[in-house]
Formats: sequence, C-alpha cells, structure tokens
Amino acid sequence: MQGKLLIFCAPSGSGKTTIVKHLLATNPNLGFSISACTRDRRGRSETHGKDYYFLTPDDFKKRIDNNEFVEYEEVYPGAYYGTLKSEIERVWSEGKHVIFDVDVKGGLSLKKYYKERALAVFVKVPSMEILEQRLRERKTDSEESISARLFKVKFEMSFEDKFDTTLVNDNLEDSLKKAQKLMDDFLKK
Ligand code: ADP
Ligand code: 5GP
Repeated sequence: MQGKLLIFCAPSGSGKTTIVKHLLATNPNLGFSISACTRDRRGRSETHGKDYYFLTPDDFKKRIDNNEFVEYEEVYPGAYYGTLKSEIERVWSEGKHVIFDVDVKGGLSLKKYYKERALAVFVKVPSMEILEQRLRERKTDSEESISARLFKVKFEMSFEDKFDTTLVNDNLEDSLKKAQKLMDDFLKK
C-alpha cells in the first residue's frame, strides 16, 4: 500500500481538531502526524508525544538547521509549529495513511510537495460570529490568544480556493459524515 496524506486546515476554532480526532477514532488505517511546536502545553489536556512534541525554541531551531522539517511556520508571533519528516515516515511504516492538523500555509506546503498523494481540505465555519463563540466556549485560550487567532482569520480565508475542497462545519454530525465521505472517496482513487 502506498501511504497517502489527509490534510485538514482551517482558521483556529473552525473544528479541524474535532474532525481529525473523530476520523482517527473511527478509522484504524489512519495515523496522526504529531507536530512539533514551541508553545506551552495546555495544562493537563495535552500530552508531549501525543498531541505535540513540545520543544524549546532552541531545539526547534536546531531541527530547522538539520533540515528535519517538511514544513514549519511561525503560526503566531513567537510560536513555531512544524511537521517532522520522521513523523510521516513513522506513520507510513505502520502501514497507515497520515492525517494532519496544520495551519493553512503549512497544509498548502504539504499539498505542493506531495501533490496527488495528498487531499487538502479547508474547514470553515458559517460565520465569524460563530467562530468567535466557539473559540470562547472552548475555554482553552486567553483573551490575547483569542484576539491573535481572530486577527488571522481573514488572511487564512484568502487561501480557501487553493485547497482541493471545502468543508463547512455547521452541524457537527453532518460535518463528520462529510469528512468521512471525502476521505473514503480519496482513498478509493
Ligand atoms: P480547531 O482545531 O479548528 O481550532 P476545534 O476542533 O478545537 O477547532 O473546535 C473549536 C471548538 O468548537 C471546540 O470547543 C469544539 O468542541 C467546538 N466545535 C467544533 N465543531 C463544532 C460544531 N459543528 N458545532 C458546534 N461546536 C463545534
Ligand atoms: P494550537 O495552538 O491551537 O494547537 O494550533 C495553532 C495552529 O497551529 C493551528 O492552526 C494548527 O493547525 C497549527 N499547527 C499545528 N501543527 C502544525 C504544523 O506542524 N505545521 C503548521 N504549519 N501548523 C501547525
């Protein structure tokens, strides 16, 4: 089997983590690409080596210099996130397709690199008001972090037409079904 890539991107708060976690829980042929990042861990809800590899800025920089990343971005000022080449190889070596939760620019870099081997899905919410509401209700980010995330939304939305397809995350149950169908159709090709 040739391993493929499923890339879900969206402005923060749009629901891509929810969708990716659901697909992972219901499809044993998928493995998650654990990104490296330099931001702090969100308390007990996140685990090093499961949600992210939480690296110091120095360690992250060393890995950039060693050419260990397929892509990396300064997603928010001072906060670096990146996909390690070793992660994609790890998942493929387990005989699984690899699924990503990366920012919009990172997702497009992966798509550009892997072309037909990758499906790039842009996830969006029906409106900015709903996005803001979901970010607040998630209760994981400070006001400052929410503002930084909202500030980036317009910029991120401008990349939508570069993706293979868009998934509007309105009703969650419908969105999860649509995500599964997108995945099934792509893996059948
Ligand atoms: P992202 O990974 O894109 O930042 P999350 O998956 O963390 O987004 O979702 C943001 C918040 O919105 C979470 O609290 C999540 O439970 C909630 N959420 C996701 N999808 C929906 C939906 N369709 N309807 C209502 N709430 C949702
Ligand atoms: P969070 O801090 O909410 O976990 O993630 C912030 C943003 O960074 C999200 O849009 C997430 O998808 C993105 N992100 C996570 N990992 C990576 C990665 O490896 N590369 C890039 N470019 N973005 C990432």
